[in-house]
Amino acid sequence: MVSFIGAGPGDPELLTIKGKRIIDQADVIIYAGSLVNPQVLADVKKGAVIHNSAVMNLEEVIEVMKDAEEKGLKVARVHTGDPAIYGAHREQMDRLDELGIAYEVIPGVSSFLATAAVLKKEYTLPGVSQTVILTRMEGRTPMPPKEKLLDLASHNATMIIFLSVGMLDEMSEILRQAYRPETPVAVVYKATWEDQKIVYGDLTNIAERVQEAGIRKTALTVVGDFLGDEYELSKLYDKTFTTEFRKGVDG
Ligand code: SAH
Repeated sequence: MVSFIGAGPGDPELLTIKGKRIIDQADVIIYAGSLVNPQVLADVKKGAVIHNSAVMNLEEVIEVMKDAEEKGLKVARVHTGDPAIYGAHREQMDRLDELGIAYEVIPGVSSFLATAAVLKKEYTLPGVSQTVILTRMEGRTPMPPKEKLLDLASHNATMIIFLSVGMLDEMSEILRQAYRPETPVAVVYKATWEDQKIVYGDLTNIAERVQEAGIRKTALTVVGDFLGDEYELSKLYDKTFTTEFRKGVDG
């Protein structure tokens, strides 16, 4: 059995109880060494074999899984955040299907949710934005033609940009064509790690500030007026509003 585990954003206490139990019982662990906090592996079983997938290709990862399966060993495949977001676990699951190897997926706290937490912000403010776009800039992985950053930006929704902090100049130039130039932006480097950094700015100055802070990777860029202080109160907790669980009062 192979267990794909979302290891969370960094803080080892942000691993799920289930994910931790499976890691601690695994015979073989394959983890994304470039991003997963090694402390997540602090309590692994004595004798557990640990592989760092940062130096392995897909075939090598599958080979380790296949070999373990043949020996009846339990494999924990540990991804950063949640594997469903830029985790490249689909291609692994498809190979396992072909090989007839059973697997499960244990979700994790994605870095975009940890980022909201450390910023102490809500992405979906009434009257501001009720939509969250998770995307990236085009790098070696091309963007599908209908997902160009400028087209996505036209909604002025809350936007979270992964894998692209090295391209902030170009990113803010594109975003300025769709958002107000003074739209607030935050860049969060290594959210929930001990060396976490947060840089605030707007679409005119964020690139410079982030460069000054020396941030080049492992950061998320979040854009939108959800970072500001103007919004409408929710209907959910409005005292005049009746919900399924609570009757509203008059006036
Ligand atoms: N599956 C992961 C994302 C993997 S892609 C998740 O759910 O978070 C790797 C990118 O995620 C990085 O380039 C960076 O943009 C972002 N990232 C991962 N961990 C992060 C963290 N702790 N803080 C800020 N950004 C992070």
